[in-house]
Amino acid sequence: MKTETTIQGLSASLSPARAARKMIGFVPTMGNLHEGHLNLVREAKKLCDVVVVSIFVNPIQFGPDEDFDSYPRTLEQDQRLLAEVGCDIVFAPTVEQMYGTQPRLTNISVSGITEDLCGLQRPGHFDGVAVVVTKLFNMVQPTYAFFGEKDYQQLAVIRQFVRDLNIPLEVIGVPIARAEDGLALSSRNGYLSPEHRALAPTIYQSLKTAAADLQAGTALAQVLANLAQTLTDAGFVVDYVEARSPQLHKIEQFDQDVVLFVAAKLGETRLIDNLQVKYNA
Ligand code: AMP
Repeated sequence: MKTETTIQGLSASLSPARAARKMIGFVPTMGNLHEGHLNLVREAKKLCDVVVVSIFVNPIQFGPDEDFDSYPRTLEQDQRLLAEVGCDIVFAPTVEQMYGTQPRLTNISVSGITEDLCGLQRPGHFDGVAVVVTKLFNMVQPTYAFFGEKDYQQLAVIRQFVRDLNIPLEVIGVPIARAEDGLALSSRNGYLSPEHRALAPTIYQSLKTAAADLQAGTALAQVLANLAQTLTDAGFVVDYVEARSPQLHKIEQFDQDVVLFVAAKLGETRLIDNLQVKYNA
């Protein structure tokens, strides 16, 4: 496994694969890798000849009061884990390498699906994601790019601009990896105190209860209200509890497949999760 820190180095490492028309798989991450990330790499290995994982904490997707400075950076540990799952190339550029020294005047804004859910509390977040992912796509030029359903809205945004801008690759979504107690794995789980970590699986438990209630016929609005109340009673500060179609359209009732979304804070740590609920007419 090679680690490259420059765009030139990455190109040089990829050129034999490109010349041989090999399938290149790409997994963008911010590092501090866990099983969720490693699952994306495993999926990439199944479909592709060469797998590139980027590790880059992208400053332009963090708000001014967010955790850019304190975000965990664990490159050596990440390299060990990636070598174990058969990653071929790690791309770990500096901020200067990614953004250069000239001002950036171009933005990528996906309207319609970025204004609510996580976009509401994190203005500009998805623009920052779209810009960095597009830059990385242009650097790696993968055949397939892999993203987790944990960040469901992000996955929808990426699918949308890839389609809108004819970016020549296929986006693959990978299901959420969870801890044994159900908590969706996240680099930010490391911020939780032991007390909050013990409480955190309540999100998934209450999502499962909500799904069961929906399937038993409870009205969608009631289910969402119960879900928010359960989390508040348990000690979470709820940011949002929402239901959307798989394409993120607003829906009023459970008359089609639905995705339930939660974002809630425990102390300073913001956790997100979602659960897809099938409609069986
Ligand atoms: P991040 O490092 O948080 O930017 O995540 C990099 C990629 O890993 C994104 O596509 C995430 O959706 C994905 N990811 C993070 N956590 C999980 C998880 N628990 N299950 C599946 N995918 C995940």
